[in-house]
Amino acid sequence: MTADTSRPLPTITLDSAEYWASTRAHATKMQRCTRCAAFRFYPTPICGECGSTDFTWELISGRGTVYSFSVVHRSAGPAFETGTPTILVLVTLEEGPTMMADLIDCPPDEVSIGLTVQMDYRDLTDKITLPVFRR
Ligand SMILES: [Zn+2]
Repeated sequence: MTADTSRPLPTITLDSAEYWASTRAHATKMQRCTRCAAFRFYPTPICGECGSTDFTWELISGRGTVYSFSVVHRSAGPAFETGTPTILVLVTLEEGPTMMADLIDCPPDEVSIGLTVQMDYRDLTDKITLPVFRR
């Protein structure tokens, strides 16, 4: 028996389809509530701030700061064994939401809380492009 080394991929849902289409286009959009103007992430049908179901998809800047991070030395499975150590970051975007992604092209000893980062993209398949961050 051989290990499955294919990387698990996000599931595109009705709520997240626009988000994944935007990352695929390397121009990330997030939902913005039309009642209270709050951006939200991950995609949901209801605003977590005010409960409204009305929203638009708006392009975000991709700029943010590292809220927290973890340097991962042990992979989560065969699909992730190449490339360790990796840096997993929680980034608070200028628009407000905090999201998790990989920080790329950064030595582990140079990441810090408060580090300014910019979103970039990692094309995985013809449908899935993951957002990543770089300094
Ligand atoms: Zn709202």
